[in-house]
Amino acid sequence: MKTGIIGDVHANLQALESVLKALGEDGVDEIVCVGDVVGYGADPGACIELVRARCRVVVAGNHDHAAVKKVPPDHFNAAARAAITWTAQRLNDDERWWLSSLPLVHVEEAYSLVHSSFESPGAFGYIFNPEDAGPSFEKQETLLGFFGHTHWPATLIDGEPITHSLQTVVPIVPPAKMLINVGSVGQPRDSNPQAGYVVLDHDEKRITFCRTEYDVKAAASRITEAGLPQTLAERLFMGY
Ligand code: ZN
Repeated sequence: MKTGIIGDVHANLQALESVLKALGEDGVDEIVCVGDVVGYGADPGACIELVRARCRVVVAGNHDHAAVKKVPPDHFNAAARAAITWTAQRLNDDERWWLSSLPLVHVEEAYSLVHSSFESPGAFGYIFNPEDAGPSFEKQETLLGFFGHTHWPATLIDGEPITHSLQTVVPIVPPAKMLINVGSVGQPRDSNPQAGYVVLDHDEKRITFCRTEYDVKAAASRITEAGLPQTLAERLFMGY
């Protein structure tokens, strides 16, 4: 049994399609998503449709809830705010309903999902280091917790230093709880422009961080054509 975990799609259809294709080649049995389906990119509707069709579970990201006015826009920088306004104007009622209905946390036997932190999921704070992770571990009910939000693929093991991961296989060794940042499909920020995701192999008890090429130029052109801030197109080429 294998689970693909994706997140921070950010309305980047080209990256999402590449990742879904790669997950198919990886032979995953199911896909789940840690949120931020929309925001920054130019294809919110198409990404919502694909994520709804392909992901068994999706939790809410701050951009998802900002696009439906459940999170105030003042938490975002100018370019992000412009993209949120642009996105909000393009959502139909069904897409708005779906984004509004996403839960902040999902817990099941094998793992938990959250966008930002289990400590205070609705506050959308950031976990950058082991100190930030401590309070989240206290609220994490399962051995494995998957999250996103920083767009940095990383593994945090309760009580150990952080490990940033690139194409890395990480063994699952109970009983220490693990927080796994799955990286970003649609806006990587670790200086690698390739789309990121994670595969959890339940039988082999390991997590694999994966990257896949996608048509960055096409995604950037869509952003430019949409009239979204140009910086949002440029950063895709740098992976930042
Ligand atoms: Zn994000």
